[in-house]
Amino acid sequence: MSHMKISQILSQRSSGYSFEFFPPRTEKGARTLRNNLRLLENYDPLYVSMTCGAGGSSQDKTLDAVDILLRESDFTVMPHLTSLQAAGSDITRVLDGYRTRGIENIMALRGDPPEGVEGFNFLGQEFSYAVDLVRFIRERGDFCMGVAVYPEGHIESASFDRDIEHTIAKINAGAKFAVTQMFFDNSYFYRFHDTLRARGVNIPILPGILPLTDISKVKKFASVCKATIPARTEEQLGGLRDKPDEMKQRGIEFTIAQCRDLQQHGFERLHFFTLNKPDVIGRVLEGLR
Ligand code: FAD
Repeated sequence: MSHMKISQILSQRSSGYSFEFFPPRTEKGARTLRNNLRLLENYDPLYVSMTCGAGGSSQDKTLDAVDILLRESDFTVMPHLTSLQAAGSDITRVLDGYRTRGIENIMALRGDPPEGVEGFNFLGQEFSYAVDLVRFIRERGDFCMGVAVYPEGHIESASFDRDIEHTIAKINAGAKFAVTQMFFDNSYFYRFHDTLRARGVNIPILPGILPLTDISKVKKFASVCKATIPARTEEQLGGLRDKPDEMKQRGIEFTIAQCRDLQQHGFERLHFFTLNKPDVIGRVLEGLR
């Protein structure tokens, strides 16, 4: 079992991949996750991460899924932790659970407000924004923290510049690296990265890659989180709605080309949102060999 701080891994490795999973909901899903881990052994991951939902019961699912990762792999593991609507005592309990397992890394997130609630009162929460969670965790131990960043700006943010200010404040509160939300047009990422570097942010920023295998699904994701799909790509893949296998193949080719472009621009560490689908990721990684 490997317990290392991701900041240390990133300082030692200038290239490689990390992989994000969500907690499996069924026994079949858990089996797929275990198979996924075996497949990824061939790619020597930088680390693997496990998402979480909102609220206490969802953190327990993450904890169970983290136990699968710890039991079934030697990879460095990072659980995600969301704080919106949580109490400090909830967060402390979750952190204690991770500490006893030897976990060294936490992805510190605010999480989304409950669906359908107009004018949610963020400031009325014990943790209003991710920056509050970063500070809280920093005061309670020696976790290496990652945070989420948004190359096209976060969906709630009034402006890109305002979001940049909040992003910098969150990083300066103690994040050691950041992972971006998915994007499909690399120019947004390059501009975002340049902006942060020009403002003195020096931590590694890993591009977050979502394989573009099902354009309808990705479009739905993208519309709720500000990720532009290039018009030509949308047109090309959208035209293959009745040919899912061909759409998948073309989508994988698009993702391989996107990753190659990032690598050629010097971003040789990439984070994959796997959606727990080993076959797609395997095909992308084969294409990148
Ligand atoms: P924050 O950094 O708090 O930002 C949220 C918004 O608040 C932004 O618009 C920001 O500009 C604004 N803001 C920040 N500070 C202030 C301030 N002081 N005053 C006013 N406005 C402010 N969600 C999950 O539920 N589970 C997961 O596992 C998960 N994993 C993710 C992994 C990655 C790589 C990414 C990119 C996102 C993930 N998310 C996950 C989604 C995330 O929870 C949502 O995007 C959420 O809406 C924002 O979370 P945050 O941590 O970025 O929030």
